[in-house]
Amino acid sequence: MTNEYPTRRIAIFGSTGSIGTQALEVIASNPAIFSAEVLTAYNNEDLLIEQALRFNPNIVVIGDEKKYPKVKDALANADIKVFAGEKALEEVASMDCYDLMLAAIVGYAGLRPTLKAIGIGKPVALANKETLVVAGDIIMRKAVENRVPVIPVDSEHSAIFQCLVGETRNRIEKVVLTASGGPFLGRKPNYLVNVKREHALQHPNWNMGAKITIDSATLMNKGLEMIEAKWLFNLKPEQIQVVIHPQSIIHSMVQFEDGSIKAQMGLPDMKLPIQYALAFPKRVANNFPRYDFKKVNTLTFEEPDLRTFRNLGLAMTALNKGGNLPAVMNAANEIAVYAFLRNRVNFLDMTEVIEKTMQKVNFIESPTLDEYFESDGVARNYAADLIKL
Ligand code: NAD
Ligand code: MG
Repeated sequence: MTNEYPTRRIAIFGSTGSIGTQALEVIASNPAIFSAEVLTAYNNEDLLIEQALRFNPNIVVIGDEKKYPKVKDALANADIKVFAGEKALEEVASMDCYDLMLAAIVGYAGLRPTLKAIGIGKPVALANKETLVVAGDIIMRKAVENRVPVIPVDSEHSAIFQCLVGETRNRIEKVVLTASGGPFLGRKPNYLVNVKREHALQHPNWNMGAKITIDSATLMNKGLEMIEAKWLFNLKPEQIQVVIHPQSIIHSMVQFEDGSIKAQMGLPDMKLPIQYALAFPKRVANNFPRYDFKKVNTLTFEEPDLRTFRNLGLAMTALNKGGNLPAVMNAANEIAVYAFLRNRVNFLDMTEVIEKTMQKVNFIESPTLDEYFESDGVARNYAADLIKL
């Protein structure tokens, strides 16, 4: 990262989402440190226009090309370049006009722009965990080749990353990812079979986008995070443990070879890991609410219920087997969550769709990038056929 510029120019890919809007709050609070250089959204054009008029970025991209005329018109009097379409996301990611990309698009759609940023040597603050689930080996290898820092935004991985500062020469024995357990902690399949999308969208501790909120309710999110941790921190599957911690105060932990465990703690607020990733290696003062040990003074831990939340077990299989299996699982999960959000399948059907797709799609041990793309497509089609989407 460079100090040539008085402010760090941030390209927010997915600026209208939960992570994107919180990142803009961080930028608005620290105008001397950050500027918003690029803003992109898929189809929420009204919010994108509002953000562009407020933050005056250099470039705006609207993913859905049908929305281009409206965005272009609305920004006609501002000195802002407007592009549209999937390809434009990649082209803008390849432009040398920003200092750091915040990868905050949801799902597989975030992979290609992020690859482009790494390809031209831009540091990435990574919220989009699906990118690493699909092609983590290629992403991390490219990042190492191009000496590009990949700084996690996901709160668990930010916690681990923070615990590892100053520990570069010390071996990790294991990492412990904490999970809130989601809205259905303690529930059994006979209850889950009837839950509806409105209920599943109520997360106890975090307010997030729809897809990750459903993933949190099924525990798939924690499975995706195990795979994310493997690539970010170069771990073996057996070095990654999940523990349910319903208070979400400890964001995750690292255990070293001497048995010492470091944890990173705080109130659950995504603005903290976002700010940390944007400003890394500095910490920025803020007035976010602080954790008060006198208030929530009981921190509890329990084992995840793998029999009920079978998605976590499927993700562990994908983690252990590797190859294209995580990409296949991710694609089937995106289709299953999409269908659940439209009331097309029930909560437990999502697991069936993912499991069947993982069994069906051909296994590839060491996929090329194109084979990852293909595996994603094949798995999506197969899962969609199962649901008759
Ligand atoms: P969200 O649904 O709120 O926002 C997604 C953003 O991506 C929006 O700006 C949307 O316009 C854009 N987008 C969606 N589909 C697109 C497509 N096909 N092409 C281009 N842009 C597209 O999602 P979110 O909750 O902000 O999550 C973003 C990413 O961050 C996810 O990968 C999620 O797993 C990860 N994450 C989120 C949180 C959280 O608190 N929300 C926490 C940890 C990790
Ligand atoms: Mg997380």
